[in-house]
Amino acid sequence: MKAAYYCGNENIQVEEVQVPDITDREMLMKIKLACICGTDQRIYRFGHFKIPKGTKRVLGHELVGEIVKVGKEVKGYKEGQRIAVAPNVGCGVCDMCVQGYSHMCPDYDAFGISFDGGFEEYMRIPSEAVSHGNVLPIPDGMSYEEAVLAEPFSCCFNSFQMLHTKPTDYVLIIGAGPIGAMHAILHQRAGAAKVIMADLSSLRLEQMKAFGEFTLIDTSKEELEDALKRETNGHGADVVITACSVPSVQIQALELTAPMGRISFFGGLPSGRDEVGLHTNLIHYKELTVVATTGSSIKQYRDAMNIIASQASDIAGLITDKYAIDDIQEAFQHAMSGKGLKTAIKFD
Ligand SMILES: [Zn+2]
Ligand SMILES: [Zn+2]
Repeated sequence: MKAAYYCGNENIQVEEVQVPDITDREMLMKIKLACICGTDQRIYRFGHFKIPKGTKRVLGHELVGEIVKVGKEVKGYKEGQRIAVAPNVGCGVCDMCVQGYSHMCPDYDAFGISFDGGFEEYMRIPSEAVSHGNVLPIPDGMSYEEAVLAEPFSCCFNSFQMLHTKPTDYVLIIGAGPIGAMHAILHQRAGAAKVIMADLSSLRLEQMKAFGEFTLIDTSKEELEDALKRETNGHGADVVITACSVPSVQIQALELTAPMGRISFFGGLPSGRDEVGLHTNLIHYKELTVVATTGSSIKQYRDAMNIIASQASDIAGLITDKYAIDDIQEAFQHAMSGKGLKTAIKFD
């Protein structure tokens, strides 16, 4: 089979290797579709502390496919079943894990980081991922394109749950990429008064029109603060989500938020650029709530799958580009160019 190994920064090699063996408590899946996430791009460029130098690793944690082999002791799954796999696998015994927050486990494993991930034809599903409930059947009628988005969607859902959006809320999302779009879809479904998206790229804003009735602000053409005032009758945003990795946007978010509003710092900042001069008096005098989330729990992953299954919005359209595994270098270059929305590796 073919597997694409990350072998060091900006270096991915496609190799012909043996199909992985599995034990009686594991499963083997044939990958059908795996998306390139911002995390994959960061690892590709800068590495990851859980991938020691000199180790090669198959990246990709947004993945779906079909079970081709079930270990003798595994119950509840069968060959031929279409599945999606939640990427974070906690130790199962720490306080975070027993509360269901396996993504906050200090000793976590993850597909595409400490386990080989989705950029290979066949992927071994280790026993702990099987027994912790990471493997989820894809509902009938749901395409692989929709199901593969459950992972990033679940991360947005984690943030959404912290924000308690109400029907009276003006919601501002800064960053009109695929993540911004998923936040927007969630808040619109929740009945927010208005969902406003801001971005410097008119191209990206244009693409958002396919996913809902959003108010779009092109910040290359007008000041965000002025446009926001106009769109909220001078009120400001009750909810602001930073769906980008730009430090100055965090500073700006405090200014744009209405009194008693909530802010989600969703996009992590590049390491070394995360000391940001925030005007904390804005938090104080406006009684703002600032939250942040990273990743998602397995429960949130399951919820995300159900939300995708029941919604009309054509979320699959977020995948704008598909590449074969042999062209994975090109796929990474494309993903990093910011031209399309989501880039995927598609297998036969
Ligand atoms: Zn991801
Ligand atoms: Zn744990």
